[in-house]
Amino acid sequence: MADIRAHAELALAWAFRLAGRLDGPAAAPCDSRAVILAYHRVLPRDSIRRFPFLEDLVTPLESFKTQMDFLSLRCRVVPLEQLVAMLRDGGKFPPRCVGITFDDGYADNYLHAYPILKRHGLAATIFLTTGFVGGRSGLFWWDEVCRWRASGVKSLEVEGLGRRSLATLAQRDRLLAEMKRFPMDEIVRRVHGTSSRLGLGADPRAAGDFMTWEQIREMRNGGISFGAHTVSHCLLPVESPERRILEIRRSRADVERETGRPCRLFCYPNGAADAPSEAEVRAAGFEAAMAASPRDVVPGAALYRLPRKVLNYRVGPTAFRFKLSPHPERIKRLFEPAQRSGV
Ligand SMILES: [Zn+2]
Repeated sequence: MADIRAHAELALAWAFRLAGRLDGPAAAPCDSRAVILAYHRVLPRDSIRRFPFLEDLVTPLESFKTQMDFLSLRCRVVPLEQLVAMLRDGGKFPPRCVGITFDDGYADNYLHAYPILKRHGLAATIFLTTGFVGGRSGLFWWDEVCRWRASGVKSLEVEGLGRRSLATLAQRDRLLAEMKRFPMDEIVRRVHGTSSRLGLGADPRAAGDFMTWEQIREMRNGGISFGAHTVSHCLLPVESPERRILEIRRSRADVERETGRPCRLFCYPNGAADAPSEAEVRAAGFEAAMAASPRDVVPGAALYRLPRKVLNYRVGPTAFRFKLSPHPERIKRLFEPAQRSGV
């Protein structure tokens, strides 16, 4: 489904490009809007081939460089806190207003993305899964599942789910989706139990896969801000209220303690939010929270479900410019004229 949408978007992007209208009008004062970009990993192409990352989360370093060149030349990148303040205060966004975010806290954000952001003087916010900082908790469970497939496993027994095939990427993705129905402790128990049965010990790369607090503090001094993304990367709607509150509040306390700065922004893992988790994020003192719907931020947008546009290896230069343009939002509005209420 995501593939079909990506193909449709790319076809539209090319149609606009061929018509010479890919970027939209240079400035549209009556069309106050901003785009928040969501990255996860940024890796050189040759290292992507070497390790079984969940490829949907990876932007090749070479593409990232081109994208940051474009943003610094053609857009107004603002710190996310500033973008949120503009929205909250009902002010207008400057033309081509963009916020840059990264989720999860992978070390490549520091190693590869940060030097480029710094060179261009671009602000960004990184949402940290605080229990994984420094690699103390091994790999994320989805990267562990990618290891199963990379080790040559074609099908296997997963506790509670029965036999599952991993022969194709679509089958692997189905398994990942099925696992997300469980609370995080259950997922971790099943995934690590399966890795043990497959004879896969702890991955020695885990320690180097995540940023350290020292790197985070260095980036803080270089214009990067940090938000909370829970402690364990649990999907809030499937957890108990007690666990949700603990994950939301502890991740905020971790970020504030280690960075010495207020942590004002939250990001729901997988963009998964419901009314109770939104209320808990609000009660914990966050000023805004990021979801994952691929829309523009427009005046009146819900502060605790801000839309973001996810970037990965599939997004080439044409699709990138299209995502930044006003066209996708206008096209989506054509199909939901009665529903625009900023939600
Ligand atoms: Zn995440």
